[in-house]
Amino acid sequence: MTVLLTPLDVAKVREDFPLLTHPFHGKPLHYLDSAVSGQMPIPVIERMAHYQRFEHTNVHRGVSALSQEATDRFEEAREKVRAFLHAPSVKQIVWTRGTTEAINLVAQSWGRANIQAGDEILLSAMEHHANIVPWQMLANEKGASIKVIPMDDRGVLELDQLEALLTPRTKVLGITHVSNVLGTVNPLKAIIAQAHAKGVVVVVDGAQAVPHVPVDVVDLDADFYAFSGHKLSGPTGIGVLYGRKELLETMPPWQGGGNMILSVAWEKTSYMGIPGKFEAGTPAIAEAIGLGAAIDYFNALGLDRIAAHEHALLDYATAELGSIEGLRIIGTAPGKASVLSFVLEGIHPHDVGSILDHEGVVVRAGHHCAQPVMTRFNIPATTRASFAYFNDRADVDALVAAIRKVQEIFGAESDDTSAEGQD
Ligand code: PMP
Repeated sequence: MTVLLTPLDVAKVREDFPLLTHPFHGKPLHYLDSAVSGQMPIPVIERMAHYQRFEHTNVHRGVSALSQEATDRFEEAREKVRAFLHAPSVKQIVWTRGTTEAINLVAQSWGRANIQAGDEILLSAMEHHANIVPWQMLANEKGASIKVIPMDDRGVLELDQLEALLTPRTKVLGITHVSNVLGTVNPLKAIIAQAHAKGVVVVVDGAQAVPHVPVDVVDLDADFYAFSGHKLSGPTGIGVLYGRKELLETMPPWQGGGNMILSVAWEKTSYMGIPGKFEAGTPAIAEAIGLGAAIDYFNALGLDRIAAHEHALLDYATAELGSIEGLRIIGTAPGKASVLSFVLEGIHPHDVGSILDHEGVVVRAGHHCAQPVMTRFNIPATTRASFAYFNDRADVDALVAAIRKVQEIFGAESDDTSAEGQD
């Protein structure tokens, strides 16, 4: 049965984002950079401000009603994350600073206890540096090696090679759910099942997935799943690590201090259970509550409705950009999420990004913390437009007009030969 979704009322949604009506270089702002960080809607900003005005003190301390109130709000936010990921228990939700810290936690705690010399760490060719560097650090320390699942020219992983890459020495697979450069949505469920059949633990980088794809960690059977609040229209400084209970329980703490202990004596210290043993020190309280409010906001809009809107916009943008001569889209996997990376013939992405910026179109230009992806496609960088639920066709039209302007400027420059040296 086909269920018809009422479309998102984007004009109404946009009223929640004051920045979008704030002039930028004297022009309307077209924010096409949600993959770098989502904008926070007013209800999230106000929820955090309310906490700071009326509810703030430290959590998990003291008997005062105020401390209890702050703790309750903080733990309610954890429950919202649990429900959002469909995790079985709040004990499996660990607060971190973001995806990067969550993956470092796994590498430093689970990894240091389980990876030995000669072991193999398998990563995909489209990982963000956050899911590469922590593993390289661990591999260097332990004498382990890194193997890579390659991808094809569309940005699709070559999974026919997975079976051979999962050797008896493979201990862990680090894989992104959605690529921040290519938009590829990896078929995680099948990949995880294949890894598990060989006893391999799977760490998923969900940073780019959570704003676009409904996530069910039980259905995926992920061992670890990490994401950042700021990619989900929440604040910076807060993120999440979901972990399988049996794994989290056996992992040692990775940072020590207050808040994570049961008792401390000179002779011996005992630690809290999960998730407390991984949360040393005062946490980002307002930020956790803000992330809870962002989840409420997403749920109210409806993840399915958001996905339908973004897919329609991506199709429109792909067709429009595809009609520009000299423009090559990097990342053409079927069913990709709303990230559009491209290169313009003869013009460096940094120049594209700067001129677009002057036109009021905010995009990202660079290697996107995924240098191996740039190497794979033999390019120094890309310009990347990324679409969120508050974007509309006017944003795409502004992008297309601004790209044409870049080409005009560089066309004129190359006529008088001043574009030399632009690679
Ligand atoms: N993984 C991916 C796929 C990302 O896009 C990002 C953010 N660019 C990260 C990890 C790192 O997230 P954070 O900086 O919030 O830790």
